[in-house]
Amino acid sequence: MIQRILIVEDDARIADLISKNLEAVGYECHRSPDGGRALADFARLKPALVVLDLGLPGMDGLEVTRRVRKESDVPILMVTARSGESDKLLGLELGADDYITKPFSTAELTARVRALLRRSTGTVTERVLEIGALRIDPGRRSLEREGSGVPLTTLEFDLLYFLASRAGRVFSREALMEHVWGSDRVVDDRSIDSLISRVRRKLETDPSNPRYLQTVWGAGYRFADTA
Ligand code: CA
Repeated sequence: MIQRILIVEDDARIADLISKNLEAVGYECHRSPDGGRALADFARLKPALVVLDLGLPGMDGLEVTRRVRKESDVPILMVTARSGESDKLLGLELGADDYITKPFSTAELTARVRALLRRSTGTVTERVLEIGALRIDPGRRSLEREGSGVPLTTLEFDLLYFLASRAGRVFSREALMEHVWGSDRVVDDRSIDSLISRVRRKLETDPSNPRYLQTVWGAGYRFADTA
């Protein structure tokens, strides 16, 4: 089934670039030049994913995110200008799933879109993950690094598998608390940071400059999808 993508972008040149690239890899693209039309097109076309520029005339991308999220959990990939750091964080808080900063490579855009669509097709099925030098096996709950077993506690494995199976996606500390510990457990930010450090020491060659488990300043953590 061909997946439909809505591209909300007022700059026709960029919209053209995005849609040509996504069409080249098999997606069906529709374009909306402003927020008002984007909401109407969203309701009519029911896209599988929205690529959303934050800087739009009239209703901006943040307001579009807020309104779309009221009725849908469709994946939203925000496109931001490098100067709009605070907007980017607000966008993630409002429920955008990921962001890409202009200027971006078309390869990166395609990879982000694919990753978001893969994750949105229901729950993540348990599968062995091979990322860089790591092999993560959810059936055996084991981690191998360069072919050698690395012992992990239950919680360390849960965090690792949760993030690695959703590689590329940023999770706030709150989201990690919810998904890794479960909402019935009380944990604070420091417990999360210390768990992250422990997992990093087991994964990373240089834990202070992590290749896999990355900090996204002001937003949370993500597992690298291109390690
Ligand atoms: Ca714009």
